[in-house]
Amino acid sequence: MPASPMVKMSNYDTHKFLGLLPLPLVVVFLWMAYDGGFAEIEPLILILVWWLLHTLVITPDIDTLSIPSKRLGPLGWIIRKLSKHRKTWHSPLFWAVYFGLSYNYLGWWTLGGVFPIYCHIYVDIITSWLNRRKIIKLLKKLF
Ligand SMILES: [Zn+2]
Repeated sequence: MPASPMVKMSNYDTHKFLGLLPLPLVVVFLWMAYDGGFAEIEPLILILVWWLLHTLVITPDIDTLSIPSKRLGPLGWIIRKLSKHRKTWHSPLFWAVYFGLSYNYLGWWTLGGVFPIYCHIYVDIITSWLNRRKIIKLLKKLF
């Protein structure tokens, strides 16, 4: 049964909130790294761009009719047609390969997407585990 748009909006906001939660602390840390001469400004800006991109656009939920998927336009439509919800795009292994390749070919700043992606995946795992527990409790009450 498809979730109502209200539920999807709620999930999106939860993932967005949790993905962005540590960002002020990260900005302070990156500023200290720049100020201390440990890093150039360009990769530090790219980390933040990658972080925001993987919180708002390229998220595991691009495999369902979600706000991030709609933001991808025709690419989001193609991804939805080719994949099932909570399969490949919610696989920690898939994202490990994705970040390994992007780290290797683009640079270390691509690791800025790691936190929002894995936060999303584990929040989904915990949420579905809690929902299953509720179902088990309901079954025990009934029988
Ligand atoms: Zn998800």
